[in-house]
Amino acid sequence: MSKYGKEIMIGLVPVVIAFLVFMGVNVVPIVLMGVILGSLFYMTRMRAGVGGVGGDRGKTKSKPPAYLTFEDIGGQERAKGELKEALDFLIKHEEIKKFGIRPLKGILMEGPPGTGKTLLAKAAAHYTNSIYVAASGSEFVEMYVGVGAGRIRDLFKEARQRAVKENKESAIIFIDEIDVIGGKRDGGQHKEYDQTLNQLLTEMDGIHTTDAPRILLIAATNRKETLDSALLRPGRFDRHINVDLPDKKGRLHILNIHMRNKPIADDVSMDKVAEETYGFSGAQLESVMNEAAIYAMREQSELISQGHLSKAVDKVMMGEKTDRETTSDERKRVAIHELGHAIVAEHVRPGSVAQVALSPRGKALGYVRHQPQQDQYLYTKPFIENQIMVALGGAVSEEIFYGHRSTGSKGDFDQALQLVQTMIDSGLTELGIVNLQMVTKEEYTKENGAILDRLIATTHEVLANYRPVFEQSLEILIKEETLSGDRFRELMKQFSTAA
Ligand code: ATP
Repeated sequence: MSKYGKEIMIGLVPVVIAFLVFMGVNVVPIVLMGVILGSLFYMTRMRAGVGGVGGDRGKTKSKPPAYLTFEDIGGQERAKGELKEALDFLIKHEEIKKFGIRPLKGILMEGPPGTGKTLLAKAAAHYTNSIYVAASGSEFVEMYVGVGAGRIRDLFKEARQRAVKENKESAIIFIDEIDVIGGKRDGGQHKEYDQTLNQLLTEMDGIHTTDAPRILLIAATNRKETLDSALLRPGRFDRHINVDLPDKKGRLHILNIHMRNKPIADDVSMDKVAEETYGFSGAQLESVMNEAAIYAMREQSELISQGHLSKAVDKVMMGEKTDRETTSDERKRVAIHELGHAIVAEHVRPGSVAQVALSPRGKALGYVRHQPQQDQYLYTKPFIENQIMVALGGAVSEEIFYGHRSTGSKGDFDQALQLVQTMIDSGLTELGIVNLQMVTKEEYTKENGAILDRLIATTHEVLANYRPVFEQSLEILIKEETLSGDRFRELMKQFSTAA
């Protein structure tokens, strides 16, 4: 009945007017009033976007992507290639049908946060001329059993309805953080999650080649290993695409994309910025460009300079400079701690220190900035051990000068433990080739302790040899707050020639 409500109303109005005229009533004011009310109602609907393209209804972010193409995504060439190949399933559907190939229902993208998974899904929608409907796993989490499942149903319904309404042959549904609802089912306490996941599986099973519109699900996660195997089996999410952190070429590409709308000085070397941002994600690189522009604007300069970019890299890497007040005792301890890191770093990898600084940033009270590294994908045992020694250098130098450590090394120890775990996982320790299930907690603790004790002793030996460097650098650092890598190397050299 409600479906035809509009039509009945349109038919009824002239009949009522005709009846009133017949009865001798003056209908002019009534008609005028009707016209005014009608226009007001129409204008309100237009402003709210109801029924218009991109009307944002319900919980899902269903705005169509603003023409985001694969060209707007930097790096990720392999991921883009694999994705485009998979998308041919949507485009070349006639051929697919002819060969009796079952439809591709789901693509799973896995990778660290901020690497462009959402961007890829949006570009996929543009590439295939599909409707784009997006939701995040956390939106389906409710206390009440059945609500999440209902939302999944609505999501698929919305995708189908919008595709029909906008005359598109296909729709792409993007679910970010799929691990929130797609975690391994235990049939126990998490009944709500189980129902939501079951509904998702049911919807996926209901996708057929002959369907119009065709539906493709793209999901993203940072933790593929936690997903229920039912989601990953053939016929469900059976295409997996890795979206990794970009290499130097990828970083340069991403930086170039984000500098398009910014005034950059001619002598800026983006290549240098790409080199300095080893390990950064696309989102962090976007942030570097944005922060550099903010620095330039604050300084009222016309163009963004290399200096602004360097400061922005530091900020994204280590957080904003804070004006935390520190006592002179604390400053001295922080200086000794940071010099410990710097001396070990320069000892194991000459030329690696770019700057030692005493200014508080983010949570740290001081920091050592290292020279950019070459992209590296394989690490040898000596390399990892050296990295552990650099991490331990701060605590060891506090021990040398004060006879005890402080709480300032917590982050360094986390890093060292992570590196030891990498060594154990990679079969680089006395435990041999093992996985974590094969070793007991005691064995693990013993090996971890043995490695760290040995490396702490070596770090002690290294640092004890550089006491004069400590003393001279400390003076400069306390007075000037920063010590450049070159000046620091000079001091290191002076010491070794004197030795
Ligand atoms: P998450 O896992 O946290 O959801 P994500 O992988 O989906 O992250 P996106 O949302 O796609 O990451 O990226 C966030 C922002 O980072 C983008 O809006 C964009 O500005 C920038 N970005 C990330 N990767 C790239 C890239 N490859 N090219 C250009 N910009 C990028």
